[in-house]
Amino acid sequence: MIEQKIRSEVRDIIDFPKDGIVFKDITPILKNPALCTEIVEEFVTRVAHLKIDAIVGIESRGFLFGMLLANRLQKPFIPVRKEGKLPYKSIKTVCDLEYGTAVLEIHQDAFPAGSKVLLHDDLLATGGTISAAVDLIQQLGGNVVACSFLISLNFLDGKKLIEEDLQKECIVLL
Ligand code: IMP
Repeated sequence: MIEQKIRSEVRDIIDFPKDGIVFKDITPILKNPALCTEIVEEFVTRVAHLKIDAIVGIESRGFLFGMLLANRLQKPFIPVRKEGKLPYKSIKTVCDLEYGTAVLEIHQDAFPAGSKVLLHDDLLATGGTISAAVDLIQQLGGNVVACSFLISLNFLDGKKLIEEDLQKECIVLL
């Protein structure tokens, strides 16, 4: 049900940001408030058993539903950002992306050690970004209890990497 609604609002953009990439554009979802509410409620149901303490969202599209969900659950939201964007003292890690590499950072006082963290991003491709974010959370003594996404590209092995290599629960809506 929700799967079909999300599918119908996601646009495939050919050769963006470079040739050979089919980019999943989620901006039409953001123009549909009823669907945004449904998505947040679906995540609420799927994470209820995890008793999370905080949600960490990955720049930039991970902020969208990450923040909505955190606010709905009345839990803290913490941004992971690309290098040089966070204003306070931060720790960093390097990640391999589908198209290049990047450095990701998080504030060193993001959450108390031992916190149960939900990691959220819009889309799971190779799993490089989320693996780097798991590393950041663990550097701060956090416990990643699950990773959640709107979309997973099933022709890549991101979900397998999260479930089998990282041994984390992977929540995907599409
Ligand atoms: P991964 O690191 O290969 O899993 O790529 C996931 C990251 O790249 C996420 O932060 C996504 O926002 C971004 N990304 C990769 N491909 C797409 C796409 O087709 N649409 C939207 N975001 C994408």
